[in-house]
Amino acid sequence: MPHKIIVERNTLRFAAAHFTTFAGQCEPLHGHNYDVTVEVEGELTEDSWVVDFSELKSMTRALCQELDHKFILQRESRALQIDEGKSNWKVRFQERGWVFPKSDVVALPIDNSTAERLAEWFAGRLREELASRGATNVSSIAVGVEEMPGQSGWWRDAAGG
Ligand SMILES: [Zn+2]
Repeated sequence: MPHKIIVERNTLRFAAAHFTTFAGQCEPLHGHNYDVTVEVEGELTEDSWVVDFSELKSMTRALCQELDHKFILQRESRALQIDEGKSNWKVRFQERGWVFPKSDVVALPIDNSTAERLAEWFAGRLREELASRGATNVSSIAVGVEEMPGQSGWWRDAAGG
């Protein structure tokens, strides 16, 4: 059984706008104060830790900052018509259309901006970052993204799978 560490809340949060699409509908534009929880499992290093808490927090905080005060655009949406202009993103859903200045948008390679997909995006980026730092002891990363108290989406990324 590997050891596990958890970092959560405090500075691991971001405020962002989004809308999801579902069942042929599109939510109105709205925002959340998101809270992020990260669980990392693995064997202990020679320092008897899985990952340095402060390193894991700073990696997660950097990702939160990419999203903070932005509109989260689901770049791979199958329901939205998305055009990347020179300085704006143009987004259409049936009769409705939005134009967002690029500086206000973070375009993510996800098909919908659900908490589940955001959690998956965080986990993928954290896995890359941990790998680049040589953290070969890490066996699994789980991320929870809470849209509001008591409502969160999770993704668990196991090593090699
Ligand atoms: Zn929402």
